[in-house]
Order: sequence, then structure tokens, then C-alpha cells
Amino acid sequence: MAPPAPAPPANSPHTATVAGVPVDTRHWIGGRRVPSASGATFTDHSPLDGTPLAEIARGGADDARAAVAAAREAFPAWAATAPAERARLLHAVADGVQARIEDLAVVETADNGALLRSHRRGVMPRVVHNLRYFADRLLALSHDDFVTRGHTHHVSWDPAGPAVLITPWNAPLMLASWKIAPALAAGNTVVLKPAEWTPLTASLFAGIAHEAGLPAGVLNVLQGYGPEAGAPLVADPGVRRISFTGSVPTARRIAAAAAGHLVPCSFELGGKSPLLVFADADPELAADLAVEQYDNAGQVCLAATRILVEESARDAFLGHFLDRVRKLTPGDPRDEATDVGPAIHPRHVERVDGFVRRALDAGAKAVTGGGRNHALGGNHYLPTLLTDVAQDSEIVQEEVFGPVLTLQTFPDGDEDEAVRLADDTRFGLAATLVTGDRERARRVAARLVAGTVWVNCFFVRDLSAPFGGSRESGIGREGGDWSFDFYCDLKNTVTAPEGWARHG
Ligand code: NDP
Repeated sequence: MAPPAPAPPANSPHTATVAGVPVDTRHWIGGRRVPSASGATFTDHSPLDGTPLAEIARGGADDARAAVAAAREAFPAWAATAPAERARLLHAVADGVQARIEDLAVVETADNGALLRSHRRGVMPRVVHNLRYFADRLLALSHDDFVTRGHTHHVSWDPAGPAVLITPWNAPLMLASWKIAPALAAGNTVVLKPAEWTPLTASLFAGIAHEAGLPAGVLNVLQGYGPEAGAPLVADPGVRRISFTGSVPTARRIAAAAAGHLVPCSFELGGKSPLLVFADADPELAADLAVEQYDNAGQVCLAATRILVEESARDAFLGHFLDRVRKLTPGDPRDEATDVGPAIHPRHVERVDGFVRRALDAGAKAVTGGGRNHALGGNHYLPTLLTDVAQDSEIVQEEVFGPVLTLQTFPDGDEDEAVRLADDTRFGLAATLVTGDRERARRVAARLVAGTVWVNCFFVRDLSAPFGGSRESGIGREGGDWSFDFYCDLKNTVTAPEGWARHG
């Protein structure tokens, strides 16, 4: 166990106490807290009430270079560390997170506004699980040697080198740990760049990892804005992998930068996923699943935001759905009773509202919601359902990333039309279908373009399963051995048989 990282001087602009938890908001590079080379900081605000939470180190090109240099320096020793020892250290980090779930949960809620009860009981335990799962999976990784024409082929999973991990604000530590765990397990060193709107739990995590004994430089955290801190990271020639979760336009920029050094990228991007409700479905289940799409104020890449209902089932579905919406409690995410908290940022609320306004102007009807939640103010937006929307309209085609769903119907018995509507966007992250007919489920699931299809359920994610998106929802899959596939360079070592063959 390493000693705790030294605290910053008391008068440092990088000391903050958030929800009672002290956070050091400098970068974490080479096992040390460091301010930006420029000395610059930026202010992190809470989505709960807009109050400033902390001054965060504002990284630039010099800091990015230093972070990658630290990751490069630490790489040979970490890559050579026995898998059992890497796994032990990841479990030690998981223990550290487990011990601080409450601190991490309250800070994450203060920083991104998602429900405290979810952070406590779902999200932070999942961070622990991410770390433990990939530690164990590393030890189970195997490739049997095989022999052809007397030659032995030995396939090894060689760590690729320093990896840059770039994460969004909607599930900050959960998504970071989902990348950090396999990258470190595989023997890579990493530089994490968290989103500027949610920098805090990454800083806490760096301290936890250090105290658990992770060697200096194995995990580095660079804070800052995407164009200033993220862009030089992804263009650095010392980087060998980039894993990014975020928006499509940013992915394009990263892909262009990565092309310079032919660095493999894994992209998990946006979605506009359908929720197909067939007339043979349990209408209560369909309504339950539809209302779940308002979780995290709709700021979920996987959210099934386009509800497609078979014509004759529309009224029953809508009745059950509106019933449930009426029972939702919007409010302060720290309150156990709250179901829908605020959106992340005033700028984001503006964006979400823009989509809704334009849809209403184009003829859509708001069956429920349709604007800001003026009673609560701040970043609160009403759970919204829009009908009378055209398939080629912006609200049906573009990701809103807020609590905004659309409802369309397809003719009775017309499975082809249901699939056509479901598949008719440029995305392909996920799809959910609700039906009482197993054969139909199998048939329709096979035709949907999506990285994940859920049948009569939603958001069930097992770490052994591949996860990612088709079309503009992403490139590549992570999860299970697919993560190791991405973070490793597979090598085949061919050994001649002793004694008889000198050449292949
Ligand atoms: P962005 O693409 O704007 O940002 C994501 C991250 O990229 C942030 O850390 C951002 O920094 C950084 N970044 C921005 N510009 C650059 C650049 N030029 N080079 C390197 N890094 C850069 O997405 P959002 O944060 O707005 O997240 C929302 C999006 O993420 C949605 O579209 C959503 O669908 C998607 N998402 C996908 C998931 C999936 O698994 N498929 C899961 C969760 C979200 P900064 O914060 O400073 O701008």
C-alpha cells in the first residue's frame, strides 16, 4: 500500500471540498499531482444549482505531452508485470473504490446531477465490478498453443502501449472505469481525459489507485477542455490506443488525428434507438420500459427514444405510459424519492429545448411535457413525449440526449414497416422490442441494425458481452475478451521443431 498522495498547500486554488469530500483538482501525472504548465484553471459548476464547485487544472499541449511521456515511461515495467500481480493491484483499486463508494457517489451527484441513489447502489458498485471483472478475466485469458507441420504456434496477448481514454459527462467514473480496467489489465498504461463538466471523480479515483499501490505513471489523469487537452493527447505519437465515448463530431476529429500515426480507435458514440411495441406485448411491461428512458434525465446513449407502437396497441400503451409519467417525481437528485433530476448544464438544456421547440414548430404535439420544468427551475426539463412527428424530421433522426421521446405507429401486422422505421436512422447502438411472441422476437431481432438488442427488457449489460454500436454509433466492440482484443497486439510466435526442420 502506497502512502496517500500529498495534499496540496492549504491556499492552493486546486483544493476543493465538494459535498464534504476534499478533492485535489490538479492533473495526476507520473504519480504526482501537478498544476497545468500554464498555471491556468477553469471553474467546474454544479448542475444542481449552478454554484461553482472547484477550480480545475486546465490542461494544454505541454501537460498532454507530459502525461503521455509518463505513461510511456511506466509502460515497459507495467507490461512486464506478471498478470497475477496486475490483477491483484486492480482488485486493490476495487477495494479502495468499494471503501469510498459514498464519497464517490455524493461527489458524482454534485458534479453531474444524476440520482444519488443510483450512484450509491448501481453506478459505483458497477465501477468496482468493472475493475474486478477485468482483473479476473485477465487471469482467464488463454490461447492454446497449436502445432502445424511440427511447428508450435504460441499466440500471446501483448499490451499495445499507452492508451488515451476520453470520456463524456453522463456517467463519468462508470465509463472511465469500463475503459481503465481492461486497459490496465492488459498491461497498458493510460492517460484519462474526463469531460470538462464532470472532472471530479477522476481526480478522486487517481488518489484511490495510488493508495492501492498502482505504480507511478501507470494511470494518469489530464484535466481540461477537449480541444486544448484532448486534441494534443490523441495526436501524440507516443499513444498506441484511443478509446473514446462521446459524440459523433468529436469522434470524427479524433479519428482524423489518430490517422496520423495509424492508432487504432474504439468509439462508443451516440444513438437514436427504437423501442418497438407489438400488439401482442404486455402493455404494462412496454410502458415500464418506455418510462425507464427518462432515467438520468434522458442523458443515456443507449436510451430508446423512438417509441414505435403497432397501431391497435397505441391507446392502451399510451394510457399506461402517461399513468407512469404522472407518478414520476422530478426534483433534487440527492433526495431518495426523486426519479428525474436536472440536466447537466444550462447550455445542454438550451440544446434539448431547441430540439423540442423546432419539433413543435414543425407540427409535433407534446402529449406530456414539452418544455422546461419552470416549477423547479435550473436545469430541470419535463419528461416529454412528442407525437405527430415525421420519420425524416430532426426530432426523429437526431440524438437529443435529454428526457425527450417520440411516439410513432406502424400498421397492424406490418412487421416489415416496423423494422424499416426502426432501422431508418444513421445510428445503430441499441434496440428494444416488446412482444409476447418468441418467434417474432427472434425474427425481428435478427433484422435490426444495433450493437445490442433487448427483448422484453432494457439496459441489461453483462461485462462478458460485446458492447458498441453499428453505423455512426461507433467503431469496434469492448467487453469480455473483445476489450483485450482492442487493448492488445496479438502476437504469434512460431517455433521450429527441435532436430528436424531448419526452415518453415
Ligand atoms: P463530446 O464528444 O462533446 O465529448 C466527449 C469527450 O471528448 C469529452 O471529454 C470532451 O472534452 C472530449 N473532447 C472534445 N473535443 C475533443 C477533441 N477535439 N479531442 C479529444 N477530445 C475531445 O460528448 P459529450 O461529452 O457531450 O457526451 C455526450 C455524447 O456522448 C452523446 O452523443 C452520447 O450519445 C455519447 N455517449 C455515448 C455512449 C456510448 O457508450 N455509446 C455513452 C455515453 C455517452 P470536453 O468535455 O472538454 O468537451
